[in-house]
Amino acid sequence: MIYTAEIKVAKTAGFCFGVDRAVNKVNELLEAGQKVCTLGPLIHNPQFIKSLTEKGVVVAESPDDCPEGYTLVVRTHGITKETADRIKELSISFVDATCPYVSKIHKLAEKHYEKSAVIIVCGDSSHPEVKGIVSHCKDRSYVVSSESQIEDVISDIKKRFGEQFSDIVLLSQTTFSVEEFKKCVKKLKILCTNPIIFDTICSATAERQAEAVSLAKTCDMMVVIGGRNSSNTQKLKDACEKYCPTYLVESYEELKNIDFGKAECIGVTAGASTPACNIKEVLKYMSDMVNDRDNLEALAAEEIAENSDYISEDEKLFAEALEKMDNDNFNPKVIGTVQRITPTEIHVDIEGRKQTGIVPVEEYSSDPNADPSKELKVGDQLELIIMKTNDVEGTIMLSKRRLDASKHWEAIVDAHKNGTVVTGKVVEVISKGAVAFSKGIRVFIPASLATASRKDRIEDLLDTEVEFIIIDIDKRRKRAVGSIKDVLRKKKAEAAEKFWATAKVGDVLKGTVKSLTSFAAFVDLGGVDGMIHKSELSWNRVGHPSEVVKEGDEVEVYIKALDSEKKKISLGYRKPEDNPWEILKKQYPVGTVLDVTITGLTTFGAFAQVMPGIEGLIHISQISNERIAKPQDVLSIGDQVKVMVTGIDAEKKRLSLSMSALLEPPAKEEAEEPEQDEPVAVSIDELLASAENKEAE
Ligand code: SF4
Repeated sequence: MIYTAEIKVAKTAGFCFGVDRAVNKVNELLEAGQKVCTLGPLIHNPQFIKSLTEKGVVVAESPDDCPEGYTLVVRTHGITKETADRIKELSISFVDATCPYVSKIHKLAEKHYEKSAVIIVCGDSSHPEVKGIVSHCKDRSYVVSSESQIEDVISDIKKRFGEQFSDIVLLSQTTFSVEEFKKCVKKLKILCTNPIIFDTICSATAERQAEAVSLAKTCDMMVVIGGRNSSNTQKLKDACEKYCPTYLVESYEELKNIDFGKAECIGVTAGASTPACNIKEVLKYMSDMVNDRDNLEALAAEEIAENSDYISEDEKLFAEALEKMDNDNFNPKVIGTVQRITPTEIHVDIEGRKQTGIVPVEEYSSDPNADPSKELKVGDQLELIIMKTNDVEGTIMLSKRRLDASKHWEAIVDAHKNGTVVTGKVVEVISKGAVAFSKGIRVFIPASLATASRKDRIEDLLDTEVEFIIIDIDKRRKRAVGSIKDVLRKKKAEAAEKFWATAKVGDVLKGTVKSLTSFAAFVDLGGVDGMIHKSELSWNRVGHPSEVVKEGDEVEVYIKALDSEKKKISLGYRKPEDNPWEILKKQYPVGTVLDVTITGLTTFGAFAQVMPGIEGLIHISQISNERIAKPQDVLSIGDQVKVMVTGIDAEKKRLSLSMSALLEPPAKEEAEEPEQDEPVAVSIDELLASAENKEAE
């Protein structure tokens, strides 16, 4: 069965940083020719585990089950302290793929446990990640799965520990429900004073849940792709089904069992352990079912699935930053006056110092295209920071780039926090996206977020000023990730809102032909798309819209009809003044004599072309003054004849022509004969008498 619906795909669908990192570690080991054993299934995805098994990866339930000669890989959930000790005891070669988010919780739990705190973990007590966390604070820990358990836990803490604990610390499993955690925090704050709260829900989980919820709110149905025993996939399903019917599928084959009914908009997201290939399969299958040629989201399915790789990389940077301190050294600022500019250095006089200041050209700007010889002149003053002094040589190495970066970095951090639009110049286009510099800060824009549609060429951005929002920042490297697409989408939404508030039938607009189908041309009006049916493209018959317009053409159109509920816009392109029937009336009024070419012959007359798109009929009675049996007796296709225009009915698109009107009138006796096709009143008696006369002759 074919459905017609829009598919909206979550940008965050697919592998998170932790899973991506663990999978890469296993792949690296396999590529290095090592035998790999994972401690439990590497990720909660049956199809993926099957593919690992085919590569020879075995799964062990405990370190003792790890076959000899195999490298044991600890998966993202982490392990208990006891398991870690056992691995050491057995001297097994092992690789720790515990997600840094999880390791961080282990450290927090251990640190506060050592300070005599009681630890409450929001999560599923049977989940390996929670078991691992609890192992670091065993005899002073509680696990709650909902806010309703907090009260009992607090009274138990009071009974068990009295005054014998320092603090109450609340943590959460990385994949815990964001909403439920907020409720737990609220309850805890009511029941005890100054609890220490760590929101340890990982950003990958929080982002996926937030996006899934906002999708579910706008869709009639949600499809969540992922393993049934994956905690974060299950949480996505739970979060979505509060807003619309939600189905969890492990593979595209399960879609056959879903009744999509009359869903007009279907949202798709995927758990953090769902491989991109799995998502692609589901989206492809759904696109085939949906069969909606205007559904850009469905067309972008592949791009979204690929996007999951980018998210992993981005989360990776973020998680690395968690682990490390900001090591920025304090560098004193100085003012330098430019003395000399060479191809490799800028020499400056430093205010209040005797040494020569040198700014290596690579320390001038973060923009690789910046050219100090063009941008600076002798005497210019620069704000610089000292990188290093060389007392022996009497020189000071300086940097402008680093000072600019630290100044502008704060602006980028603010823009990230406030969602403000930032401008920058694209200096490089690489396979994964574009690199822009905004006041010296490098901003990476992933390919999937660089243009409004995958049809747009990312290469066209090179050397242009672009607007983007900052979607993530890497504090350690002082680098940011931006999205041009978000800005374009926002502008489009604003333009659409304005359009629908002001547009009326008859308005003349300019637009760009965006796509062509067999029956229409779709025009981007800047925020909204309108449709020109092929019959509205030209006054002549149009077989395919490409006969009149092509993609990318700038066109002037007018609004023929608007449906604000369905958000449909019908456009007209052909101009009333180009209507050939109006031209005909003006150029060839009734009585005009002209030469025409015979284009068709029928039993009742001949057709002749008068002007492009208009043919007139010379009725059989108007071909000759003589009686003729059929038009073919006197005319052939291609003949040039002289005719007179005898009638124009522009509304019914009928044009009458006459050849006989230009001929000499017939001889009198002939003229008395009844004309062809004209009804003549003759009685039966007259007909019989005429027949008898003919016989007698
Ligand atoms: S969901 Fe978060 S915590 Fe879990 S593996 Fe992925 S990044 Fe790590």
